[in-house]
Amino acid sequence: MLATGGHQQDPFEDIRTAVRELCSRFPGEYWRALDRDRAYPTEFVKALTDAGYLAALIPEEYGGSGLPLSAAAAILEEIHATGCNGAACHAQMYTMGTLLRHGSPEQKKRYLPDIARGALRLQAFGVTEPTSGTDTLSLRTMAVREGDHFVVNGQKIWTSRIEHSDLMLLLARTTRREDVVRRSDGLSVFIVDLREAKGHGLTIRPIRTMMNHATTEVFFDNLKVPAENLIGEEGKGFRYILSGMNAERILIASECIGDAKWFIRKASDYARQRVLFGRPIGQNQGVQFPIARAYAQMRAAELMVSKAAALYDAGRDCGAEANMAKLLAADASWAAADMCIQIHGGFGFAEEFDIERKFRETRLYQVAPISTNLILSYLAEHVLGLPRSY
Ligand SMILES: Cc1cc2nc3c(=O)[nH]c(=O)nc-3n(C[C@H](O)[C@H](O)[C@H](O)COP(=O)(O)OP(=O)(O)OC[C@H]3O[C@@H](n4cnc5c(N)ncnc54)[C@H](O)[C@@H]3O)c2cc1C
Repeated sequence: MLATGGHQQDPFEDIRTAVRELCSRFPGEYWRALDRDRAYPTEFVKALTDAGYLAALIPEEYGGSGLPLSAAAAILEEIHATGCNGAACHAQMYTMGTLLRHGSPEQKKRYLPDIARGALRLQAFGVTEPTSGTDTLSLRTMAVREGDHFVVNGQKIWTSRIEHSDLMLLLARTTRREDVVRRSDGLSVFIVDLREAKGHGLTIRPIRTMMNHATTEVFFDNLKVPAENLIGEEGKGFRYILSGMNAERILIASECIGDAKWFIRKASDYARQRVLFGRPIGQNQGVQFPIARAYAQMRAAELMVSKAAALYDAGRDCGAEANMAKLLAADASWAAADMCIQIHGGFGFAEEFDIERKFRETRLYQVAPISTNLILSYLAEHVLGLPRSY
C-alpha cells in the first residue's frame, strides 16, 4: 500500500493487519451517516472492544493483553489510516493508566477486569473547566469530605464520551487553592460511577461541535461520591493526571500519523486517476510536490512518535519526545489534510469523498488534548532552559 511508512520490522504488523481488517467493515458511508446525525459509533466501539483492542494496555492479570504502548499506538494509527476515528474510544486506553498506576489493589480488582472484558466503559475524563481551561491548577470544581463520601459541586466542559461511558475519572479540588503550600497540591482524582451519578447530582449537556465528537458540559450539584472511589492520596491528583499525559500525547500523535497517511493515500490515488489536459494531474510537479512534502513531513513525525513510544515502553523519561511527537504529528496531519483538499479541487469539499469530514476531525489535534502553544512553551522552558512564561 502506498505511503504507509513501511513497517517491515514492525513487531505489531499482525495487529495492524487485523485492525485494518476490522476497520474495513466500517467504511466511509458508516462514518458519514453518523457525522450527519452527530451520533456515537456504537457498533465500531463494540467491535474494537470485542476484539480486545481497547484492553491492549491492561495487564494480563486483569484480563487485558498487557501490550506495550507501542502496540496501542499501532492500533490507533491503523484505525485512523483506514479512515475511521478512534476519538470515540481512545480515552479508555490512557485514562485506565491512572487507575492502574495509582489505584488501590481493591479498586483495580473491582474495575479493571470488567473494563478489559467490555462490561464497563471508562471513556470519560473530566479535567477541563470553562473558566480555567489549560490552567488546570485554577480549576474550581470542589469535592468536600462528609463522612464516608465526598460531595462534589462545580462544572466541567469538553467532557467527551460521558454519555457513552459507565465510569469517569474526575479531577476536583479537595483543598482550597489559597490553603495549599505547593500550587500543584490540593487536587484529587475520583472514579465516578456514572450509572449512579446521572440524575443524582450530575447533569450532562451535549455540545454540538464542527466534527462528531460526543462532547459535553457536565454540572455537579451536590453529587455524592463514595470516599472509597478516591484514587491514591487525597491532594496528589494533579501528579497522577500528569503521569498519564505522556501516554495520551503519544497515542493522539499516532492517530495524527494515521490521519496523515489516509490523506496522503487519498491524494496520491486521486492525482493518478484524475485526467485533465490529456494527462493525470499527478504528472504535474505542482501537484506531486505538495503530496511528496506531506509524506516527508509525516515520516519525520512518525519517527518522533516511535522514539517517544520506545522511551515510554523502556520506562525512560519521554516528556520532551512525547510533546514533540504530538506537536509534529498534529502539524503533519493538518498539513496533509490541507494538501488533500487542494489536490481534490472542488471534490475535496463534497461529503461523499470523506475528506472534508477527516479535515474537520484532524483539526482538533492542534488544540486538544493540549494546544500547540502549550507544547512549545513546555519545550522552551523544560528543554531549552528559557524563563517560565506563565
Ligand atoms: C472536542 C474536544 C474534546 C475534548 N475532550 C476533553 C475531555 O474529554 N476531557 C477534558 O478534560 N478536556 C477535553 N477537551 C479540552 C481540551 O483539552 C482543551 O480544549 C485544550 O486543552 C485547550 O484548553 P481551552 O479550550 O480551555 O483553551 P484555553 O486554555 O482557554 O486557551 C485558548 C488559547 O490560548 C492559548 N494559550 C493559553 N495560555 C497560553 C500561554 N500561557 N501561552 C501561549 N498561549 C496560551 C492556547 O494555546 C489556546 O490556543 C476537549 C476539547 C475539545 C475541543
